[in-house]
Amino acid sequence: MKRGPGDPGGLRVIDFHTHLPLTRAGGDAREAARLLVREMDGAGVSLALAIAIEASPGVFLKHVTPAAVRSALEAFTYDWRALSHPTLYRAMLDPEGAVKGHLELIRRHRAPSELVAEAAEASGGRILAVASCSRAGGVEACVERLERLRGRIVGVKLYPTLDFIRPNHPELEPLLDYAESEGLILVVHTGCDPGLWELPAFCAYANPRYLEDVARRHRDLLIVAAHMGSYSYLMPGVYLAEALRLARSRGNVYLDTSATTLQDVKAALARVGPEKLLFGSDYPYYANASMRQAVEEILHSSLPERVKEKILWENAESLLRWAGVRP
Ligand SMILES: [Zn+2]
Repeated sequence: MKRGPGDPGGLRVIDFHTHLPLTRAGGDAREAARLLVREMDGAGVSLALAIAIEASPGVFLKHVTPAAVRSALEAFTYDWRALSHPTLYRAMLDPEGAVKGHLELIRRHRAPSELVAEAAEASGGRILAVASCSRAGGVEACVERLERLRGRIVGVKLYPTLDFIRPNHPELEPLLDYAESEGLILVVHTGCDPGLWELPAFCAYANPRYLEDVARRHRDLLIVAAHMGSYSYLMPGVYLAEALRLARSRGNVYLDTSATTLQDVKAALARVGPEKLLFGSDYPYYANASMRQAVEEILHSSLPERVKEKILWENAESLLRWAGVRP
């Protein structure tokens, strides 16, 4: 693999984890698609999955009260990492302000499933849409929405952090059944999340161990544990061991590399092998890095060339084919 990213005759990388740059596009789906495709062109990425982001202000306010923030921060009063984290430090001084600020964040980063599907259709086959659904309106309503999006989405994502629910909660069963019977890929956020979700009290539902029985009970459901359970500012690699155990023991569980380190990827290769890893950039959200930088981190690493090919496209290709999508 001598060619570099951006060379049109070169790579056919599949990015399994991106989001629409909707804010930058002024909320316009077609413009967001254009920006995402431009970023892909610059990175040598031929196909990307764009994942919707939906969180309910009501669910958030129910779980993240100023008192809950105070109590979640208690254990970190003398933790230098928390003290040097601007958002967490500010939350210590002003829990009410932190709640308000995060409510605003939820609104700003909202990327509804319908808009993502619209962007995918405007992308000339370069973007595939992954829906998401907050449980606020009830899981049945969620399934109905997915049904209306039939044929326009390839998967659905659960955010145990934003939705404050573990993925094996009985309430989510109808959604899991639907995804399994329709061949929708189930993407699940695992690990912590930026902001207040750095705190274990708010990211514990995103422990991949809650996917163990989901994967066992739904054998035909393809599950991608996003971020390998690893992302955490306070405790880097927070649930990595659980994610690797899960992917090793369950044939229908894959891991994406977004918001992880090369060290995490190497740990996954050693424990799980190269077949279960999918490249993901988390563009435009991860540490202000470009999609190209994310590709290059794998491409220019010391990993064997065959392993790079598997992570960057082969595994994604076969997984998408399994889900009935011809990349
Ligand atoms: Zn993401």
